[in-house]
Amino acid sequence: MDQIKIGKFIAEIRKEQNFTQRQLADILSISDKTVSKWECGKGLPEVSLMIPLCDALQITVNDLLTGERVSEVDYQKKAEENMMNLIKENEENKKRMALSIICGVITIIAVCSLVVIASYIAIPTIARIALIVFAIITAVAGIGAAAMLEVKAGYYECPHCKALFVPTMGEYVKGYHTLTKRKLKCHECGKTGMCKHRIIR
Ligand SMILES: [Zn+2]
Repeated sequence: MDQIKIGKFIAEIRKEQNFTQRQLADILSISDKTVSKWECGKGLPEVSLMIPLCDALQITVNDLLTGERVSEVDYQKKAEENMMNLIKENEENKKRMALSIICGVITIIAVCSLVVIASYIAIPTIARIALIVFAIITAVAGIGAAAMLEVKAGYYECPHCKALFVPTMGEYVKGYHTLTKRKLKCHECGKTGMCKHRIIR
């Protein structure tokens, strides 16, 4: 999915239809910031908004995802390509999520073994300290890697406006969280809430 191309296409068709960003946003009951974000190539419309957006712009979802008006001849080929791209994007997210869990488990096992060895086995003090330092480094690196994989796996859903967004690493690390939700500030409406983690759009 070429977000930049799709964004330029949305802007072009919107102007053709003589809508301002605000007017288009009002039709879709979203903020004009969201429309501006799409047009800058910083995110795709979420699936539930695609059909209303295409209706407003009088284009097809296939045109939207391709980033240009698709001719009759290419129509089916492009539709299949677009469908495969959407599936691929979701699968990559699932893989990242699985990798993140594996990475976390390996880290926990490695750190526990190191701590056990350092605590219970008769070795010189200096080796004991070295092992503990090594355990701490492993823990930090492992948790960091797991978090980095997870933050890229999918989206968070705002409880207020239902927008999907990807938090920055900083926001992600700071946010209080449960297994499936994380306290984040929504990139769309700016409200803070417990956002649900969703792997697929
Ligand atoms: Zn929101």
